Amino acid sequence: MANMISGGLRGLLDERQVDTPVARVVRALSGHGAVSAAQIARTTGLARSTVSTILADLKRSSLVVEVETRSPGIGRPALAHSLNPEAGTCLGVLLGRNELRVVLADVAHNIVADVAIPLERDYKPERATRMAKQAIDNIYKEHSLPYSGLLGVGFAVSAPIAASGRIMRGSQLPGWQGVDLRATFEPVLQKPIFADNESNCAALAEMMWGAAAGFENFVLFKLDLGIGGAIVANGKVLTGAAGTAGEFGHMVLDPRGDLCTCGNRGCMELSCSGTAVLGIAERRLSRSIGMAEFVKTAQAGDVGFQRLLEDAGEAAGRGLATVGTILNPGLFVISGGMAAAGEMLLAPIRSAYARHTLVKPGDGEGANPAFVTGRFLDNDNCMGAVGLVLRHHGRLT
Ligand SMILES: [Zn+2]
Repeated sequence: MANMISGGLRGLLDERQVDTPVARVVRALSGHGAVSAAQIARTTGLARSTVSTILADLKRSSLVVEVETRSPGIGRPALAHSLNPEAGTCLGVLLGRNELRVVLADVAHNIVADVAIPLERDYKPERATRMAKQAIDNIYKEHSLPYSGLLGVGFAVSAPIAASGRIMRGSQLPGWQGVDLRATFEPVLQKPIFADNESNCAALAEMMWGAAAGFENFVLFKLDLGIGGAIVANGKVLTGAAGTAGEFGHMVLDPRGDLCTCGNRGCMELSCSGTAVLGIAERRLSRSIGMAEFVKTAQAGDVGFQRLLEDAGEAAGRGLATVGTILNPGLFVISGGMAAAGEMLLAPIRSAYARHTLVKPGDGEGANPAFVTGRFLDNDNCMGAVGLVLRHHGRLT
């Protein structure tokens, strides 16, 4: 039974193969988790009565189950539907700077496992493939799940990716430039491969389960060792012609500034990335310091580190002001390790943004975009890689 369902599910999720009303309902459930019949009708554009009939059929074939959802506040739990958690699983894999991270979820959006595998810097594709396969086999064995139920593997990569799955520039993963992700992983994993760059995955995770849930238009700005970002318009992450949309870190803030690794001068990366900020902190301490310790020390009252956060927020806000002038989003999700500083970082971002953007806070309705901290500061990219499979987005063919 499980095999039959996941075989059917695999086809139903791919809109290029099947676009029947049943497939649209299944895709709405896969993409949104537990949802009410009314929400499914809204998402799919199908009549409420059609949705009810389809849900009844899907329940009879055990592909869909009823669940209770608890909305915030008082009142009875609402009845919702989700895909049967036993109907299939999805994997998200992060190809990070010096680690692989693997998250396993079922199609009802439950996280089953989350494993980090440390690797040396500059690890090569062959090694990553071997380690990923081993980790995945172990996870399926440990949780007594059938590998046959795996619907696809999503990859979050610290580099821009072309639509073909080729890694365009390997700035974070130097040995991966030009590598074809599908040709690398599909023969070993024997499953459909999905991929997007890690910031786009982060935006997807925040949109599906996090700080941007319910928003169709927002900007994600990620302040980690490097700077990343993503633009979501009408519920879709913009990739751009060369896969580099949302690379806010390389906006030129000072044309006469220092030389950046990208070859331009005075990029935002040089003034507020974690690498830049921690570099100053390390010179003061005469030792190395990680982002988490830096943020904790600032929060514990270190005025020097607080000043560094304030300066970083000011530079970021100035850059985001231009982003806001162009895109006018209603929400900025600030993500990445530095965002753990919360208001200490958000306050200077907000005030620099207001000073430099076109629409000022006093200008009335819609003039005050919200700046919020992301929900998954630590593993948004890997969660988003799971989301790629659940939303059937970024499939490499
Ligand atoms: Zn640059």
